[in-house]
Amino acid sequence: MIQTAYARSSDYGKDLRPALEKVFAPQLAANGDLHGKSILLKPNLLSYKGGKDVISVHPAFLLETAKMFLDHGAKKVTVMENPAVQSAPAILRAMGILEELEKMGVSCANFADYQPVPPPEGSRFRSLELAAEYRRFDAVADLAKAKTHAMMTLTLCVKNLFGLVSGKSRLGWHLAAGQDFERFADLLLDIYQTVKPQFNFLDAVTGMEGNGPGSGTPVELGFVAGSSDALALDAAVAPRLGVPDLLTVRRGKMRGLLQDFQETGEVPELHAITLPDPPGIISSWGLPLPPGMRQAMKQLLLSRPVLDPEKCISCGLCARMCPPQSLKLHEKYPVFDLSNCIRCYCCQEHCPKGAITPVQPWTMKAAGKMDAILHRIFRKK
Ligand code: SF4
Ligand code: SF4
Repeated sequence: MIQTAYARSSDYGKDLRPALEKVFAPQLAANGDLHGKSILLKPNLLSYKGGKDVISVHPAFLLETAKMFLDHGAKKVTVMENPAVQSAPAILRAMGILEELEKMGVSCANFADYQPVPPPEGSRFRSLELAAEYRRFDAVADLAKAKTHAMMTLTLCVKNLFGLVSGKSRLGWHLAAGQDFERFADLLLDIYQTVKPQFNFLDAVTGMEGNGPGSGTPVELGFVAGSSDALALDAAVAPRLGVPDLLTVRRGKMRGLLQDFQETGEVPELHAITLPDPPGIISSWGLPLPPGMRQAMKQLLLSRPVLDPEKCISCGLCARMCPPQSLKLHEKYPVFDLSNCIRCYCCQEHCPKGAITPVQPWTMKAAGKMDAILHRIFRKK
């Protein structure tokens, strides 16, 4: 049976490496000897603003994981990611670990070679284009950060794999799946099924709550988790952060992808973190609504992006990241065309100042109770 292992680490100091070793051991047992193997580390690197920034995995978490693979015999370790704005090496340099990684013989680069991949058995999407680099390694290690996410509620190990999609395609996928969160969850699961990282680590020493994944606040969680299966790790951890019904996990169960797992080690107590406003309720009903009605209801029942002009520095990044171009700068500040907005929250995710927040319309608040009733009646088995 798959294990999701936990270990306590109150900070990123001396307790971190022993904690990582504890959650590594069952993964080694599942995957076999590392000697002579090449390993691709795929960390969550969104950006890095220094200090107590929790947008990306902590520098020590990444550094110690790379060392650990080398110490256990890996022949080659490489860090690759495709951040939206900066390059992966630039973020690692800002973190102060690029030189040390290179001294250890760990190379660092952006994903660059995007190719169509054959759809996995039972996949929902028939054409996927992913960074082909992952196929050139003996194993992939997914290094995720425990963070809130406006669209998917939490970003853990499965969501972290979206980084293997090219920046250009990411906008397209958001455009295609923007309002249908189940569709987006299915896309993430297709990527998970395709890549199937053999090693998965979650940095939940200090996580992010509130306006994640780019502008939330640090929350001390004090643990790391690891599993040989990304979905099993997410299924174990999400309820411990107060999310018992994470959409990717629910869809994974419905598609028969979630295998039996057991939680081992220093299993953390429930720590319900502050979540962003729920993005919407339509997609979770599982109702076969006619497209026109679905569209109209979505406008009433989805959180909309709202600007705090006090925080905005007029950098224009939100407008550049908006897949359907529903956001334009007018007299220095972003103005939303909500009729065309697909509620993908890319603007919120990438705003460097946390100036955009998803806010529920009154209709959604009023419908909250009704949603619970409809869920009970209509939820798919
Ligand atoms: S990304 Fe943020 S700071 Fe920059 S223009 Fe948009 S709202 Fe303002
Ligand atoms: S305005 Fe924001 S939430 Fe709306 S489509 Fe553009 S990026 Fe997505």
